[in-house]
Amino acid sequence: MIISKAPTLTDAQLAEVEAIVGEFNCKIQVIYGAHRNIYAIIGDERSETMVNRILGLDYVDRVDRMESVYKLMDKRSDLSNHRIRVGTVDIGSEPLIIAGQCTIDPKNPQTFLETAAGVKEAGAHALRGGIWKPRTSPHSFQGTSASMGTLLEARERTGLPVIAEVMDESQLRIAVEARVDMLQVGTRNALNYTLLAEIGRATAEQGIPVLLKRGRHMGPVDEFISAAEYVVANGNPNVVFCPRGSMPALDGYRNHPDESITPLLKERSWAPVIADPSHSVGRARYVPAAALAAIAYGADGLIIESHVNPISGIGDDPKQSITPDVLAGIIRDVKAVWKLRSRFNE
Ligand code: PEP
Ligand code: MN
Repeated sequence: MIISKAPTLTDAQLAEVEAIVGEFNCKIQVIYGAHRNIYAIIGDERSETMVNRILGLDYVDRVDRMESVYKLMDKRSDLSNHRIRVGTVDIGSEPLIIAGQCTIDPKNPQTFLETAAGVKEAGAHALRGGIWKPRTSPHSFQGTSASMGTLLEARERTGLPVIAEVMDESQLRIAVEARVDMLQVGTRNALNYTLLAEIGRATAEQGIPVLLKRGRHMGPVDEFISAAEYVVANGNPNVVFCPRGSMPALDGYRNHPDESITPLLKERSWAPVIADPSHSVGRARYVPAAALAAIAYGADGLIIESHVNPISGIGDDPKQSITPDVLAGIIRDVKAVWKLRSRFNE
């Protein structure tokens, strides 16, 4: 990672650095920050000669080489003070609450608009709505691009930023073009490195925040952090971790609640954590407790499936969505736990 003396390199300086690293089969990936750019060396950066030649340039302050596999996501990286914004929330300064339906039902777009109004009234900062769905059975409803119009209409009416999951490059293009405010990578694609890299490239310019869910079968914490590294190494530093329950399931829950991973992530990486209690426990009645536990463990916010009338919903909504009333209660309690939590650090 090259740290320049000025906040950015000029085009001529960048070309000079690229020529040097190119001789050692490395590339430069520019990470665009709010105040300064970071120039990551992609490739084997162990050559002393290469590093010394870069250090010899008078506009270079230093070259940091890190041993961890995820050099950009590492807490010691130069992105460690990077902040990510979703709508009006600077993540980390207050609990970010994302709520809305698992799935937008194309037969009932009006219901989604009512849900959007309901979660806004309850105090949510952003709206989720599944357009394309990763379903276990190919015979289940797979979602439809037509629901993008409904999601955008809900954004227009409520003013809330919107988040949707993308599973392939064509969906990614549609979502980026529609200027969706946050993208979700679901548990099934958490290790799809080509998609993660493509998301990094496609969102680099807009810097769209990416919510990366933890893979259901993911093992070590580092595997999760390395997956996020693919997005950041390809140009977009705005990655947010999302624990959402893992396998094997805890008997009675849909997945094994994994919110206790948050302190471990925060020790190793700078990126914020937004927990998903809905897919973790998988039943509406367990969601409030799981939501508060996630905040107690240090999460910076929550994404919660919510619906004005869950039993009329599709996808996960009938079993795990909570109503806007319940959401309002969770938000109230989340604020209280958030305050109590600050005492842990006193
Ligand atoms: C969802 O958010 O509706 C979803 C399918 O998420 P996950 O990838 O966590 O299963
Ligand atoms: Mn769902």
